[in-house]
Amino acid sequence: MTIHNPPTPTAEAAPIAAGASGPRSLRRHPETIALHGGSFRFDPTTGAIAVPIYQTTSFQLPGTEGADKLFALEAAGHLYTRVSNPTQDAFEQRLAELEGGAAALALASGQAASAFAVLNLARAGDNIVSAVGLYGGTWALFAATLKGFGVEVRFVDANDPEAFARATDEKTRAYYAESLPNPKLEVFPIAEVAEVGRRFGIPLIVDNTAAPLIIRPLEHGAAVVVYSTTKYIGGHGTAIGGAIVDGGNFPWKELSDRQPALHEPDPSYQGKSWIDKAALIDFHPYILRIRAVLLRDVGAPISPQNAFQFIQGLETLPLRLRQHNENAIKVAEFLKAHPKVSKVIFPKFQEGIAAERARKYLRDGYFGALVGFEVKGGREAGRRFIDSLQLLYHVANIGDARSLAIHPSTTTHSQLSAEDQLATGVTPGYVRLSIGIEHADDIIADIAQALESA
Ligand code: PLP
Repeated sequence: MTIHNPPTPTAEAAPIAAGASGPRSLRRHPETIALHGGSFRFDPTTGAIAVPIYQTTSFQLPGTEGADKLFALEAAGHLYTRVSNPTQDAFEQRLAELEGGAAALALASGQAASAFAVLNLARAGDNIVSAVGLYGGTWALFAATLKGFGVEVRFVDANDPEAFARATDEKTRAYYAESLPNPKLEVFPIAEVAEVGRRFGIPLIVDNTAAPLIIRPLEHGAAVVVYSTTKYIGGHGTAIGGAIVDGGNFPWKELSDRQPALHEPDPSYQGKSWIDKAALIDFHPYILRIRAVLLRDVGAPISPQNAFQFIQGLETLPLRLRQHNENAIKVAEFLKAHPKVSKVIFPKFQEGIAAERARKYLRDGYFGALVGFEVKGGREAGRRFIDSLQLLYHVANIGDARSLAIHPSTTTHSQLSAEDQLATGVTPGYVRLSIGIEHADDIIADIAQALESA
């Protein structure tokens, strides 16, 4: 199994090195890495410069001795697409390089990425500490499903980094947060919480789905980044996928008491620990274990077709983000001046500590492309607004090239009590927009006419 894309199945054993960013490529800009990142240059058989879709389940093994090495993880090479595939590998390498990480692993969905990122460290009896501001699916996973697996998730207020320390005990294995959680759209204090975690030997895992490239969690001390690539990275609303990026910046090796999943002998892998296994091939133990254990045992591989779609998405991601961002600012400013709007929720307009964090963590001039606002007239006005839209889609999604809108109180957050809705920042008139890359004037014209009916 590998994370490397060898030219042929009989290639010399090479160190596993997904997304290895040499010094030359590190100096490149995101726009260039998005097109050239990773070791894929062209297909060695045909010369094709687009990454081929390797639509195959299995790979010819390089003789019995070579197969022994592959199965023992002592050599690089693909065995079976549940665990690795060259198209997936090319996507992972490029994403890891773009994120400034050491290695990446692509999965079938963002949910699989969040679940694996946590389950790789926390086992029955363990706990993790998470910020409250989470996507609903992640909330359900943490509050209900993981609980059923014996993993407790302790929720804390992101505004108080020391709350993570207070919730920590000897069984805490990870901290978890979203970089730009909606509906409040307040940037998470990444460096502050990463620093608390490093005091205890606890990695911070950041879901950066809403802010790829414009927030750089690894540069602020996060150890792991997860994505729903379904959103901005895919960018066109055509494929479900997820990814985990290992920063390669966390001292797993020194944390034998804190991180037993990586340090204890694994009976399913010749009784070796993942720290030892990774050291043998000079690779990163955290991401290696996810592939070798969770992908092997639980599945959820990304399909080669979808990996290809996400490579296409990455190639134009920096360019699209510029347009998303420019349009979002125009829309937010239009809404702020509108008489039917009582409040606009957008990082550019925040005050106090939220504004400070937006300044510290968001790329200069970027605020993301999610815009929340409250329509005067509450629930009914919010619903009328949605029903009057002609250009914007009414969709429970974000990060599409098309502009999208939803009324969270009656859809995504409808399972919550009125009180809990308010606690998460969802008021009855709250509307969430995910601003696309159409012409800003056309987006604003549609919002303006829908507000007339609200
Ligand atoms: N994380 C965030 C912030 C999301 O918005 C979503 C989906 O909306 C997910 C994770 C889950 O991703 P997926 O739908 O690809 O499983």
